[in-house]
Amino acid sequence: MLLKDKVAYITGAASGIGREIAIVFAREGAKIVVADLNKAAADATAAEIAKGGTQAMGVGVDVTDEAQVDASVKAATDAMGPIDILISNAGIQIVHPVEEFAFSDWKKMLAIHLDGAFLTTRACLKSMYASGRGGSVIYMGSVHSKEASVLKAPYVTAKHGLIGLCKVVAKEGAKHNVRANVICPGFVRTPLVDKQIPEQAKTLGITEAQVIKDVMLKETVDGEFTTTDDVAQVALMFASFPTNALTGQSMVVSHGWFMQ
Ligand code: NAD
Repeated sequence: MLLKDKVAYITGAASGIGREIAIVFAREGAKIVVADLNKAAADATAAEIAKGGTQAMGVGVDVTDEAQVDASVKAATDAMGPIDILISNAGIQIVHPVEEFAFSDWKKMLAIHLDGAFLTTRACLKSMYASGRGGSVIYMGSVHSKEASVLKAPYVTAKHGLIGLCKVVAKEGAKHNVRANVICPGFVRTPLVDKQIPEQAKTLGITEAQVIKDVMLKETVDGEFTTTDDVAQVALMFASFPTNALTGQSMVVSHGWFMQ
């Protein structure tokens, strides 16, 4: 088991990519904190994980709320011990052309993706530094951490920003044996993407099949979606890597959509 008795605090873990990471990490022996805005779904995910014999708890948290984040990390450490792994993954998507973007939607996007990453990082780093056990911070970036697409101004801006935060945490965390890395997936069929397909079809005036083939998967080497398990396996690699040799990095997992 690669993560035996490690405590993993995973945001957005009640759905999609975060949920899959929680399941894969539990299989590797980690204790899981399923942190999500949707408390009922977080509890259900934790209950399902616990059936496999691993300790898991659901916590309801809005990652944009400083007090809620701090309280949820305290509840997690009280129940399970110091945090070893943070997966900052919670996210949403809102698509519009720049000239039509509501300022309130722009601020909401930056709050979830960037304030959420900062607040959870700060709370979990305090626990990692105090325990002296080191740790691994993993941000859910995107191909949009490296590349732009139309209609996604705040998402692309925020996902690029996560790389900056990651590099600072890698530098500051090194002396505490804390590493930080970013995973940059291509399109993964989760509720977040399923919601975008009809929206983009409407905005671009094309069919849903065309959105998938000609927009989402057009630049991949094989026309395939990335899977939640593909992303979870990369998260496992970053979480279990034993030294500071692998820190401050971003890895693209996208069927060759973006090559660096
Ligand atoms: P998802 O919609 O399946 O899951 C997102 C989860 O985040 C949900 O459970 C939701 O309740 C939670 N959440 C939303 N706002 C929150 C908040 N304020 N506080 C706490 N939890 C909140 O989405 P997903 O596709 O699994 O996306 C997860 C991450 O992966 C996101 O950061 C997303 O940008 C990124 N990503 C997704 C794809 C993709 O194609 N699906 C590609 C690249 C990156």
